[in-house]
Amino acid sequence: MKVAGQTIVVIGLGESGRAASEFLARRGARVIAMDVKREEEFARRREALEALRTLGVRVVLGAHPPELLRAADAIVLSPGVPPTLAVLDEARRAGVPIFGEVELAARFLRGILIGITGTNGKTTVTAWIGDLLARCGYCAHVGGNIGRALVRVIEEVHDARCFVVAELSSFQLELAETLRPRVAVVTNIAPDHLDRHGSLEAYIAAKRRIFQNQTEEDWAVLNADDPTVRAMAEGTRARVLLFSRQADRMVAEGVERGVFLRGDRLILRWEGQEREVARGADIPLRGAHNVENALAALAATLAGASLAHPGEEPTLLALAEVLPVREALRAFPGVEHRLEWVARIEGVDYYNDSKATNVASTLTALEALEGPIVLILGGRDKGDDFTRLRSLVAEKVVHVLVLGEAREKIRAALEGIAPVTHCATVEEAVRTARQLAPAGGVVLLSPACASFDMFENFEHRGRVFKEAVRRMLCEETPPDGRRSEC
Ligand code: ADP
Repeated sequence: MKVAGQTIVVIGLGESGRAASEFLARRGARVIAMDVKREEEFARRREALEALRTLGVRVVLGAHPPELLRAADAIVLSPGVPPTLAVLDEARRAGVPIFGEVELAARFLRGILIGITGTNGKTTVTAWIGDLLARCGYCAHVGGNIGRALVRVIEEVHDARCFVVAELSSFQLELAETLRPRVAVVTNIAPDHLDRHGSLEAYIAAKRRIFQNQTEEDWAVLNADDPTVRAMAEGTRARVLLFSRQADRMVAEGVERGVFLRGDRLILRWEGQEREVARGADIPLRGAHNVENALAALAATLAGASLAHPGEEPTLLALAEVLPVREALRAFPGVEHRLEWVARIEGVDYYNDSKATNVASTLTALEALEGPIVLILGGRDKGDDFTRLRSLVAEKVVHVLVLGEAREKIRAALEGIAPVTHCATVEEAVRTARQLAPAGGVVLLSPACASFDMFENFEHRGRVFKEAVRRMLCEETPPDGRRSEC
């Protein structure tokens, strides 16, 4: 792709828009970076805007002037900006190509791309694949929707044998054209973001774009327990590797290639042969959903590894024999804010699940943990139905602490199910939880709400929770007088 001397408009100045602008400016493009937000709304990111201006980027705030878009050689759209904006239609009619930051990265990519999409578990599976590959001795870089824009990551990759493991959202895939993951992973599909995609079909179609440039030399790693994902096997030219929690069903259906759970064993099934790759006890993360994530990560790691050996491609069975996948699996530290274990104080485990910003995620956390649980809920209501929490709360939760704007709605939804106490801050909730949690129990922050009423984002909320827990840990003097965790 020719960049030097081209006029390229970048729309949206979040992480990926800023990264794309910098990337293009360094390659000699005339970059115009736009955002509908005004200068004062960038108060916290003023330095980032200054850095762009220093690179020669023209920053236009408060509007998307149509004449600038029409005159561009290309437009790079951020995933947060709807591609249906009227000004974009006008630019399209004027023949200006429009694509996303991930697509830009794809055009300059060196290395072996592993792409991960799906409704839930993307970040966990992406991080896990990166970690497994690194622990198995490969060079692996992680990025995309997971936090670091893909254009930043690919600038660091100079060796074609390195892996680039990218979390890909449906919004990013919608704006991709030449992107070709050598391994494409789909974790699961549930109705999500339908407001933006219009229908479940359109959402699935966006996800399917992950396969659009794959060939017979590539791999599609698909969740066989999710009918929508399994059906995607028809839509790719790539070799299919399934993962499933139901090994016997897979065998009964004649599936010969996959990573499956049989009882307590994680097995690789390959052309009629089976090899144990790990045991359930080797999965360091709690919950049935993380068994699925482990199967997906193992399958993608083996498929990816087969592409990293020039000359004859080893079979997955051969790789499972030689690579230390079991030890690698065990060593994964998990991802921050997703059912993250923080500390044990007086026999009570504290978990940070701040990423749970909807009821479905909180239900997943409650299923994964054993009671008695003191549950911290609340924040900004996203219109969810909190009565769906009633049965698991009745089963496992001894006390609910509520925060933020949603407190009264949650209290009403859980009326008569568990005692509910309002706390003004996360710190107060942590102190109150300590009084309420019985030994052998759990204190769980899994709010089922967005964080924006009290925090910058869910990461901020999770950090405040962890700091409060750690402060308590440090105030406590253990019997031997050591405070090693402080
Ligand atoms: P994503 O990046 O797709 O949002 P994460 O890995 O960040 O996914 O996990 C977010 C939440 O989604 C978790 O806290 C958990 O509640 C839920 N989750 C994770 N993995 C799965 C899975 N395999 N199936 C269903 N839900 C999951």
